[in-house]
Amino acid sequence: MKNIVIFGAPGAGKGTQSDKMIEKYGLGHISTGDVLRSEIKAGTELGKTAKKYIDNGQLIPDELMIDILAGVYDSFGKEHKGVIFDGFPRTIPQAEALKKMLAERNHSVAAMIELYVPEDELMNRLVLRGKQSGRTDDNEETIKKRLDVYHTQTSPLIDWYKNEGIHHHIEGLGGIDEIFGKITEIIEKL
Ligand code: AMP
Repeated sequence: MKNIVIFGAPGAGKGTQSDKMIEKYGLGHISTGDVLRSEIKAGTELGKTAKKYIDNGQLIPDELMIDILAGVYDSFGKEHKGVIFDGFPRTIPQAEALKKMLAERNHSVAAMIELYVPEDELMNRLVLRGKQSGRTDDNEETIKKRLDVYHTQTSPLIDWYKNEGIHHHIEGLGGIDEIFGKITEIIEKL
């Protein structure tokens, strides 16, 4: 079983590369952003709470995210090939909760793959995505807040995972297939 955390700033290409990993390796996919957006669409209480944070470029409180994590993970059953965590963890308490939740099932994270993309390129990509997808949080003002949140709350996880001995850094500029090639090199050594 190869559980993988795909990590990076908003716009780094986590979703795009997750799709390719799912196709090649038959992995499951947990995108907490997608989970929250579907809760918003369904008009649930969680969705209503989440919308306020998302539209503001802020993170949903850890307790809420951690609460839903185990249920989503267990929905893949006991014998899955591995799950890609995309957009989770985003804080150190979330990383600790993920480790604990997996340990309780005798599972673990095999690799954290960090996609690094320079800031000006992230901004260009997200503004373009906003025009194409209509995501309400892909506007310049909210993007700036999300990048700020990434730097202050999420990027400390790079050192946290280095400490776990499973951090891998990849340059996320270039063609999609070229970047995916670097990801496959890491996955195939696991
Ligand atoms: P994403 O689709 O991963 O870019 O997530 C979109 C938004 O959903 C983020 O800007 C946060 O407001 C919220 N979100 C997604 N995942 C998390 C998480 N792990 N912790 C807190 N908030 C999250």
